Amino acid sequence: MPGEPQADCLFCKIVAGDVPATIVRETDTTVAFRDINPQAPTHVLVIPRAHYPDAAALAAASPEVLADVVREAREVAVQDKVSDTGYRIVFNTGGGAGQTVFHAHAHVLGGRGLEWPPG
Ligand code: 5GP
Ligand code: ZN
Repeated sequence: MPGEPQADCLFCKIVAGDVPATIVRETDTTVAFRDINPQAPTHVLVIPRAHYPDAAALAAASPEVLADVVREAREVAVQDKVSDTGYRIVFNTGGGAGQTVFHAHAHVLGGRGLEWPPG
């Protein structure tokens, strides 16, 4: 069933509490935790509790939860005090764009200068 936990998915395991993570925020629909390999002083992943392979699949199935993810990304930036200097919300989509975990997630990056365009 779309949205159901996947046994082989790392982020479903973090949602279930079976893999530890440094959780910074939780809601009924989302979990936010620090990236294990941070690329900026603030590097947090915001994920839906439900399993969808990428942001577009989440948007198609559950647009309100995608909105929850973006709202939570902003709350993470405020909590980490990087919202005033600016932050970036990134959804890598597809292996060619660097997606390695196929459970939808927003990267929230901030706390340093962010180049445009990204590499
Ligand atoms: P992607 O490359 O799919 O856009 O992002 C996946 C992110 O998950 C990477 O930035 C990677 O560092 C992070 N990551 C991979 N494994 C773990 C883990 O076990 N715990 C945490 N907190 N982050 C992870
Ligand atoms: Zn998953």
